[in-house]
Amino acid sequence: MTTSAVLVGFAYLAAAVLFILSLRGLSSQTTSRRGNVYGIFGMAIAVVATLTLPGPVPNGLIIGAIGIGAVIGAMMAARVGMTQMPELVALLHSFVGLAAVLVGYAHELSEGAHGGTVTRIEVYLDVLIGALTFTGSVLAFLKLKGSVSGRPLLLPGRHVLNLALLLGSIACGVLYAGSGHVFAALLAGTALAGVLGMHLVAGIGGADMPVVVSMLNSYSGWTASAAGFMLGNDLLIVTGALVGSSGAILSAIMCRAMNRSIWNVIFGGFGAESGTAPPQVPGEQGEVQEIDAIALAAALKAAKHVVIVPGYGMAVSRAQHRVRELSDILRGMGVQVRFAIHPVAGRLPGHMNVLLAEANVPYDIVLEMDEINHDFPTTDVAIVIGANDIVNPGAEDDPSSPIYGMPVLQVWKSRLVVVNKRSRATGYAGVDNPLFYKPVTKMLFGDSRDAMEKVVAALKPR
Ligand code: NDP
Repeated sequence: MTTSAVLVGFAYLAAAVLFILSLRGLSSQTTSRRGNVYGIFGMAIAVVATLTLPGPVPNGLIIGAIGIGAVIGAMMAARVGMTQMPELVALLHSFVGLAAVLVGYAHELSEGAHGGTVTRIEVYLDVLIGALTFTGSVLAFLKLKGSVSGRPLLLPGRHVLNLALLLGSIACGVLYAGSGHVFAALLAGTALAGVLGMHLVAGIGGADMPVVVSMLNSYSGWTASAAGFMLGNDLLIVTGALVGSSGAILSAIMCRAMNRSIWNVIFGGFGAESGTAPPQVPGEQGEVQEIDAIALAAALKAAKHVVIVPGYGMAVSRAQHRVRELSDILRGMGVQVRFAIHPVAGRLPGHMNVLLAEANVPYDIVLEMDEINHDFPTTDVAIVIGANDIVNPGAEDDPSSPIYGMPVLQVWKSRLVVVNKRSRATGYAGVDNPLFYKPVTKMLFGDSRDAMEKVVAALKPR
């Protein structure tokens, strides 16, 4: 082994350790910045070390491509709003899938004639998972963006279709990787995997998209790992496995949070009912009681324990700074204020935590659902800010509800619940919310930021 190969080996080892430290850092809000820095250094080392390896493409070309990609990526990151983050993540996963397919084909076209069965299996797996990730991620992107309906597509015999696509892909793999080395089978397998990826994501609807996004994250990791085997690149194998397994673990955690099995999410067509249920007539469930900012401020002044439940609407209206101001004022008045975070609040894992951290809300008053759910009976006022599905009591007591079984924040057990949103419209899962009609609930209609500004103004001494 040459000295430079040994140095590259050490550099890859250092990068792999930094990636592991990065994941560890990202697991908690207090260490997440450090985690990001580890990741950036790890990637920088990996790129520089890889450039020192001999390859068929001149380094100038690779650096140029990285430069163009970096500029586009930086512009996208600067422009994207927090509410569009899930779409961006889904789109980025599709790039990983597409890159894996292209690298697989490049490998086949340049070296296919010399490779044996094992190499072809590696190429095939790389292309297969890559194609599945690519089409699945593009469809997830379109669904999250709203360009395609979020309702699940439930074709009759869809499980048989999935099985047929899977078996077809395996058959093509045998034809391609076996001694026959049929190139057309690689093309056919790619097409079948592409259709399978699209069909799997098309069948998922309602409130299950968070799990889909993290599953696609996981697939993109396994794609990279397969590419690592194909290219003989150890770091790609390790990094891909880290992404693949962390995405799978995150999917499992989210499924547990939603009280659902991963297989049920992938094959269940969950949320179908929300698409087929007759539209709710406003007022059908009873009348809502309204409250204004001044009355809410008065209730808050009289309260001892307040819980704030943020949701997607807080992100849309960028109300987090006003919400932090509200909590500062109340805490200054001696009121105990805590934030309750549902695992799938918003549109991406950790969405609310990121927004509250950005607004400098202290971490120690931000609690997970399991930590705070039993405290609602002793809560004087629960303020729900732009959240809907995550506080829907139907998830607990209405077996006909499409989100029945998903654990929710039990805000209705508080002495007073104030729900701030613009209307009685449904949330992401498209399910009506009986919370709005409960005697304990009062609605504060309006955009979250405006509403919170008014409450803050009413609380400030004149
Ligand atoms: P929901 O989507 O259930 O509800 C959000 C509510 O915010 C809407 O009903 C809307 O009502 C209100 N809203 C929108 N804009 C504003 C505004 N400017 N001011 C005030 N309110 C506003 O959000 P939740 O956070 O409660 O639940 C998250 C949902 O998203 C779950 O179903 C989850 O499964 C799903 N999801 C989660 C992902 C994740 O990873 N966290 C990813 C993808 C989906 P109105 O129009 O009346 O104002």
